[in-house]
Amino acid sequence: MTNRITQLFNIRYPVIQAGMIWTAGWRLASAVSNAGGLGLIGSGSMYPDVLREHIRKCKQATDKPFGVNVPLIYPDIDKHIQIIIEERVKIVFSSAGNPNTWTPLLKQHGVTVVHVVPGSKYAIKAEAAGCDAVVAEGFEAGGHNGREETTTICLVPGVCQSVKIPVMAAGGIASGRAMMAAFALGAEGVQIGSRFAATEESSAHDHFKQAVIHSAEGDTMLTLKELIPVRMLKNKFYTQVKEAEERCAGKEELQLLLGRGRAKKGIFEGNLDEGELEIGMVSALIRDIRPAAQVLQDIWKEFCSLQKGIGEWKI
Ligand code: NDP
Repeated sequence: MTNRITQLFNIRYPVIQAGMIWTAGWRLASAVSNAGGLGLIGSGSMYPDVLREHIRKCKQATDKPFGVNVPLIYPDIDKHIQIIIEERVKIVFSSAGNPNTWTPLLKQHGVTVVHVVPGSKYAIKAEAAGCDAVVAEGFEAGGHNGREETTTICLVPGVCQSVKIPVMAAGGIASGRAMMAAFALGAEGVQIGSRFAATEESSAHDHFKQAVIHSAEGDTMLTLKELIPVRMLKNKFYTQVKEAEERCAGKEELQLLLGRGRAKKGIFEGNLDEGELEIGMVSALIRDIRPAAQVLQDIWKEFCSLQKGIGEWKI
């Protein structure tokens, strides 16, 4: 397939692996890029020297394009941007912040910039800031999420109508079938997180991967909306948050309960009780841990087989 997304990134399949914290290191990103998609290193959980190391290892592991996801609320964001420029990273996906702040500098250095948005008004802002494309990320997505709770099926057509730059869909996509649905809504690519979190190359703890593949419908919730909304698996920590929210605990109390490094504890260290187990709603449909290349191939095969089916449909 050739479309604006494959051309923008110079990739074979319009499938992007999300740059998830504690999960998407150089192993996962290079595996996805080598398989023909676009792999992203998740810089949000990396100290600057760690990010540099992952970029260098990724360059050694693949000669295909790859990128870095940068949450704009990261405390040392200026150091991350400097490293990205110094290491000549060609693609940046930014999220959780104002795209005006860093996009012009990155563009001056020849970087392709994509911003992740939870709503059409943010997509318009990203286009005006000079971004080359946007990811429309719906309510189903894991980790940080928008407050408005707009689902992927409602968000993607609205974003496609609002901007001229290409749109990728994210949130709830883990199969060729869901990818086909996203394309039917107007997306030209998909960004997939949860399915790639449960792969052999993902750096998440095995306890976390097992929790993902054993989860059921209804097991994830969007919570902590008073702070930064985040979708996670229900566990002991989630129950504590829910209890606090039900008695209208203030921001300070919730912040104290959240503490620091909860995502690391859950995703990277595998503490299923105390950790923040960030994952998307689609985890209920993920049943095995496979190599990333196989995940990508299966999604692509299913997508192609459905394309043939659509051609044969009669009304
Ligand atoms: P916390 O404040 O709870 O903890 C910070 C974590 O990030 C620690 O585990 C720490 O590692 C690690 N870290 C890496 N670099 C730094 C740094 N320069 N300063 C401080 N800590 C650093 O944050 P979270 O774990 O919830 O989130 C971490 C980052 O990831 C944030 O920037 C956040 O915005 C982003 N994020 C993005 C998401 C998304 O969906 N895009 C989802 C969740 C988080 P250590 O414990 O080894 O010190």
